[in-house]
Amino acid sequence: MLLLDGNATSAAIRTEIAEEVSKLKSQGKKVPHLAAILVGEDGASQTYVNAKVKACENVGFESTLVRMPAETSEEELLSTIKGLNENPNIDGFIVQLPLPKHIDEDKVTLAVAPQKDVDGFHPENVGRMSLGLPTFLPATPNGVMEMLGRYNIETVGKNCVVIGRSNIVGTPMAILMSRGTNPGNATVTLTHSRTKNLKEITLQADIIIVALGKPNFLTGEMVKQGAVVVDVGIHRIEDASKKSGFRLVGDVEFETVAPKCAAISPVPGGVGPMTIASLLQNTLKAVTMRK
Ligand code: NAP
Repeated sequence: MLLLDGNATSAAIRTEIAEEVSKLKSQGKKVPHLAAILVGEDGASQTYVNAKVKACENVGFESTLVRMPAETSEEELLSTIKGLNENPNIDGFIVQLPLPKHIDEDKVTLAVAPQKDVDGFHPENVGRMSLGLPTFLPATPNGVMEMLGRYNIETVGKNCVVIGRSNIVGTPMAILMSRGTNPGNATVTLTHSRTKNLKEITLQADIIIVALGKPNFLTGEMVKQGAVVVDVGIHRIEDASKKSGFRLVGDVEFETVAPKCAAISPVPGGVGPMTIASLLQNTLKAVTMRK
């Protein structure tokens, strides 16, 4: 069984990006600048945003973290976004989700200028992705594609089952895997909470990409021998034996699934680090696309 090591793969990508940044610097050019807006104090969101800012610093990008209190109004947030859209110093930015309930996430997504939308969530960028035009690909699905590509996982003509159809993971994942690219060119089944007989479907799959947000959901009996499994899920589970009081698990029951797999991504250390590497790739792309 091959472990799809997201830490090692993302480190390789980050080294490549750092080399590009050094080149830009030595040519006296501006280095990429990523901004992140964090509204509220959600613990997981703070961890994710801090990891993104740190990753920027490590590759030589400039970064700006805009912290806004939980009671920030929608109007105030939209005005901050407008400021970043118009700031020539900022190449790309993200608004960390989820947002407090009183803010309409759709309005926020639409407010981000498509050419600075390094999360790839704006409808214009989603449309471009669907048509196979150059754009920012959403970070998590693109991270999975990079992982499959760099490990030379064969996807052409394979049966791929995606579990979960969210706008940020499952749906773009299914689009990317079905495009005529490599990785890609798979025959994709996109499943969701209304899917009947999921086990029968997953048992046919050569590749299963799991993104439904339920800890340890995919078990060994749902997977055929020799399958490739990518676990996008991430959950904190209470664990008194850990200093932190919790441990991280994915949507896949690793202990029962891994022994059946040709390859599998772990949690932690799988898709999570790939998502951050993708965001850095998009920010670098933002600079090139602007030129
Ligand atoms: P989400 O928006 O909650 O979507 C979950 C999807 O799973 C929905 O489409 C839902 O179907 C489907 N679903 C729920 N129960 C199901 C079932 N029993 N069988 C089949 N499908 C089912 O979640 P998300 O934002 O895509 O995130 C999914 C997971 O990935 C979460 O654990 C999240 O934390 C993690 N995540 C990780 C990263 C990373 O960087 N590693 C990035 C993003 C998300 P319906 O559409 O019918 O409701």
